[in-house]
Amino acid sequence: MAKVDSLLYHQKGGGLFRILGEKTAQMQEKYPGRPVVKLGVGDVTLPLAPAIVKALHDAVDDQSKKETFHGYIGNVPKLVEGIVARDYAARGVTISPKEIYVTDGSGGEIYNITDVFSGDCEVLVPDPAYPAYVDVNSMQGRKIHYVPCLEENGFIPQPPDYAVDIVYLCSPNNPTGSTMTKADMQKWVDYAKGCGAVIIMDSAYESFVTDPSLPKTIFEAEGARECAVEIRSFSKTAGFTGMRCSYIVIPSDVMIDADDGTKVSLRSMYVKKRGVRSCNPSYVIQMGAAAYYTDEGQAQCMENTRYYLNNGKVVRKALTDAGVPCIGGDNSPYIWMKCPGGMGSWEFLDLLMDRYGVVMTPGAGFGPSGEGFMRISCFGDADETKRGIESVVALCKEIEGKK
Ligand code: PLP
Repeated sequence: MAKVDSLLYHQKGGGLFRILGEKTAQMQEKYPGRPVVKLGVGDVTLPLAPAIVKALHDAVDDQSKKETFHGYIGNVPKLVEGIVARDYAARGVTISPKEIYVTDGSGGEIYNITDVFSGDCEVLVPDPAYPAYVDVNSMQGRKIHYVPCLEENGFIPQPPDYAVDIVYLCSPNNPTGSTMTKADMQKWVDYAKGCGAVIIMDSAYESFVTDPSLPKTIFEAEGARECAVEIRSFSKTAGFTGMRCSYIVIPSDVMIDADDGTKVSLRSMYVKKRGVRSCNPSYVIQMGAAAYYTDEGQAQCMENTRYYLNNGKVVRKALTDAGVPCIGGDNSPYIWMKCPGGMGSWEFLDLLMDRYGVVMTPGAGFGPSGEGFMRISCFGDADETKRGIESVVALCKEIEGKK
């Protein structure tokens, strides 16, 4: 009889958005006809940029002619050239095209890169964090350490005084909306080099960094080429959540230990595994993503990003004016707000949904240190976001007024 992997079978988690979905359905049943105001889901809502749509059409046409048809394709050179030039060289960072692997979404890539490491590696995960880091590692049986991201450290994870083997970082952060400075990144690079750890930097929200003093890649920190990999996604940057395109940068300088004491390059081990498991996205999708790197594509995608950032500004101002503590929304599409009156995340969500039909994501779903906070997503419609945050503010004032 075939048997299921025990780690997979006993895996908990993955329940946050399922529970939110169930709660929303129950609310709709209780209040039929009342609109649901969505400030919860972190998916994009604006359509693809015209430059990308045109590139997709053109690529489909290429596939219809013998001279321009492509069968299976690895990295599309045009896309990789754009990545090297705009995402790295423009920031003074040298990345070779050979160090880039185009993939079909950063979610899967978090799994794929993690799966290269030995099961007895110990990992460090910020708390709260995007749930995949914990889910993947518990599925693979690793010991997980947490670094709390709290008000007193500006919700920025700080290196601990003990050693680990793998570190997950995410900046701009989901869920807290906090953004690391170059000094923050440098601290982690120095820590990782000091203990031989590898940093897996999740930069899914990099395009939201508009403050020129902030870094856009961990490779702006000195020595990062020796200890870090970076995962980027076109999902939020270019509206590709449904198209699926991302990439991972694995510098050839990152070395890890083999069981016989040999030092091997992480990149070569990743390539070995990738060869049997994953394929690049199609030619059509990669050509669509390549259009993001044209002048037109950059300007049009940035217009969408500005729309979301403007939602962030509206939310942040409404909360700040009402005296509700919050961060994010400026260089990030998420705002992390403190629940009023010392309420718990789920307790506040239940009240907000029942009274106003507004759905946000409870911070506790992202880790124990998220308890007492809510994540507000700025990816929604501008009018809906404004209406939603007015309800949130009204409820916060009511709760604080009763104290
Ligand atoms: N990383 C973070 C921090 C995310 O928030 C998400 C999606 O919301 C992902 C990775 C996965 O993105 P995708 O698989 O669409 O590239």
